[in-house]
Amino acid sequence: MYTNDIVAIDNRLKEQIMDSYILSSSDFMYSVDMGFHLIAANLNFLNFIQPISIKNSLQIGDHLLDSIKFSPDLKTRFGNCFIRGFKGEVFVEEVQFQLPDKGIDKWSELHINPILNGDTTIGVTIISKDITASKYAALELLASNIRLNNILLSSSDWIWEVDANGTYTYCSEKAISHLGYDVGEIIGMSPFDFMREDEKQRVGLIFQDIVASNSAIVDLENWNIHKDGSEVCLLTNGFPVFDANGKLTGYLGVDKDITMRKTNELELLRMNEDLLLKTEELTKLNSELERFAFVASHDLQEPLRTVTSFLQLFEKKYTNLVDPTAKKYIDYAVNAAERMRYLIRDLLEYSSSGKGIEEYAEVNLNLIVSDITQLFEISHADTDVEYKIGKLPIVNAMYLKMLQVFQNLIGNAIKYKSEEKLVIEISANELDQDWQISVKDNGIGIEPQYHESIFELFNRLHSFSDYSGTGIGLAVCKKIVEMHGGKIRVKSDLNKGAEFIFTLPKNRP
Ligand code: ADP
Repeated sequence: MYTNDIVAIDNRLKEQIMDSYILSSSDFMYSVDMGFHLIAANLNFLNFIQPISIKNSLQIGDHLLDSIKFSPDLKTRFGNCFIRGFKGEVFVEEVQFQLPDKGIDKWSELHINPILNGDTTIGVTIISKDITASKYAALELLASNIRLNNILLSSSDWIWEVDANGTYTYCSEKAISHLGYDVGEIIGMSPFDFMREDEKQRVGLIFQDIVASNSAIVDLENWNIHKDGSEVCLLTNGFPVFDANGKLTGYLGVDKDITMRKTNELELLRMNEDLLLKTEELTKLNSELERFAFVASHDLQEPLRTVTSFLQLFEKKYTNLVDPTAKKYIDYAVNAAERMRYLIRDLLEYSSSGKGIEEYAEVNLNLIVSDITQLFEISHADTDVEYKIGKLPIVNAMYLKMLQVFQNLIGNAIKYKSEEKLVIEISANELDQDWQISVKDNGIGIEPQYHESIFELFNRLHSFSDYSGTGIGLAVCKKIVEMHGGKIRVKSDLNKGAEFIFTLPKNRP
């Protein structure tokens, strides 16, 4: 600032006013002559410069460039600025002033003005403003802009901005990979321009509500038409942008292409519906089959009873008239008819076991087990069994079905006993969601490869002559347990006994 630049009410005041401007300024002000000697400086400058001057006390008249511990670069830089000033140039230059061993790192804005004596330049005046804070803020802003730009470039998402009319005012390059249009084509268009009429209406209604409440757009799925005509599903998220008066000026957001995910989801949904239909068909077929097995086994009972009675009558009446071979044949026929009777009985049991004809009730498994063991003690009086029965729960189940499960499992334990004295252990274990019930014996055991197949209908590991049976008992157990929402399995090895474990949910599914 020059005295001539100051307009004051009283010319005599000019110098005092000039002094007060200089005093109140936080800038450094100094002047050098054409030989780089300091010819004037304000106190701010002297206080700053003295500790970093070579002699630690810079005086008026000293060579400014030689007196300061400048780096060679900085010295040249300042020297050049002064020389430009000497040549009459008025300019502003930004300089980074670094003296690492003094811990100084400042940015200064140098305002350089030649000092004129008439037409002749006799030196320069420098006003140096400390712009460190704003410079670092600007550098930080630049760095964060570069970072943001890199994120934009590396993101697979499309970033956009629309104005209050919903017109694109900015859009990142990724738009082309999403919709096939380049940035130039998209600017000026609206998101709705890419939608089919019905989608436009659907999304439009949602968007109306969002804008009315100045809310953010959160995970808004919308279908768009790609430039090549294909359908593209975008997931839109965005924030409202407001001006200084709080007026909505538009939205800034991100679109993610979720076409693949959405198509897979839709395909999965379709497959699920198909599966549901097939399951329904299968359930229907299954119940038809069960009905058929029930009717067939029920209706077969009567003719079988007739065959058996006539065979028995024949055996009784003509036993003395036929030769031993014919007698043997009659025995075979009677035995086969007997086996068929069991088969039909068990088949009937199996086909009716799936029917939920019975009501669910609180069933005390302790009572069921004690009833069955008593019954078996009478019906299998010749088998010595030691029962070890733990505390069993009261479950919500079908009473008769539970009876059937324990009857089959305990009956099998007795049937498949080994030479050893039979010990049957029945216990329960409380799990988080289920009761786990175990029926364990020390009988002949089952080889691991049959652990699954024994639960299938008619699967037996022995001939009828070794162990009577039809291969239906465990299939019935499985069906009943599953009907109650549980699972059944066996833990066993040959000659190591067998443990049948099944679960019953504490809460009915
Ligand atoms: P069944 O006893 O009428 O043959 P199941 O369905 O009850 O029919 O059993 C299927 C097969 O599983 C039996 O034939 C037998 O080989 C085997 N099995 C069932 N329970 C036991 C057990 N406790 N110990 C050994 N094997 C068993």
